[in-house]
Amino acid sequence: MFNSFNSAMKKRFGCKIYKLSLSGGMTCPTRDGTLGTRGCIFCSADGSGDFAAKPCEDIAKQINNAKALVAAKAKDAKYIAYFQDYTNTYAPTTRLRRLFTQAIKPDDVVALSIGTRPDCLPDDVVELLAELNRQKPVFVELGLQTIHESTAEYIRRGYKLEVFDDAVRRLRAVGIEVIVHIIIGLPGETEEMIYDTVRYLADMRIDGIKLQLLHVLDGTDLADEYRQGKFDVLDMDKYIDILENCVRLLPPETVIHRLTGDGAKKDLIAPLWSADKKNVLNTINRRFREDGVKQASRYKAD
Ligand code: SF4
Repeated sequence: MFNSFNSAMKKRFGCKIYKLSLSGGMTCPTRDGTLGTRGCIFCSADGSGDFAAKPCEDIAKQINNAKALVAAKAKDAKYIAYFQDYTNTYAPTTRLRRLFTQAIKPDDVVALSIGTRPDCLPDDVVELLAELNRQKPVFVELGLQTIHESTAEYIRRGYKLEVFDDAVRRLRAVGIEVIVHIIIGLPGETEEMIYDTVRYLADMRIDGIKLQLLHVLDGTDLADEYRQGKFDVLDMDKYIDILENCVRLLPPETVIHRLTGDGAKKDLIAPLWSADKKNVLNTINRRFREDGVKQASRYKAD
């Protein structure tokens, strides 16, 4: 049906792969006063890393703690060290080198994945990532969310699309795979606007994508807007309709890392149907089967 993270990783590494969520203890330019102080409008105080380990410099300890969480089901599995929360290249390269080198040290860690922003990838950081990529595969995950500037301004993303384009070009030039996060259901976006974003990434033949449902989380400015009735969230049927079309538009080789999002349940305000993740994934799988969804069936290569 589609090129899922699980199947792509199994094919590549020969076994089940789990991601170990780690924290580099960084912040974001949208939080520390450089570009703003309140973060992106939808982002929780935990910096999109609600399941990340408690920040500390001891990466070996974080890895062991994260492994313990999946130990029961992870027999003979291998791992991707995943720096998830905040902006994980927002620090001097000496510190990044120490963190990332520790993270890829264990034999059963087969790759490194780094969540960050395209405006936080100066050349010396890209050089460091290229060097690490020669030891183990490095994936960079970029939170683009949308290609539309009006929405980007509304969500306070803090960088223009050309900054993203440039970062992707420089990362790929040194052989680093790029995974892009987009959000489905952002206020003010029509369905066609969502497909524009997906088509844009499809044209780039992006290596991986996370399709994420907009979550409204308590304590965010987005929650205030929602409570004031300024926008509606998607219902599950509509979300799956859109998801199906996104999958059809993507090229066959793009790895689909996620079909929904992972917000902290305790903070979730809307849509509440998304709290039952098992039911959501089962429903997506059933609908994909019933509707004969096939990745790339509407993808048009140049
Ligand atoms: S979405 Fe990313 S860049 Fe924006 S505030 Fe949250 S962690 Fe920082």
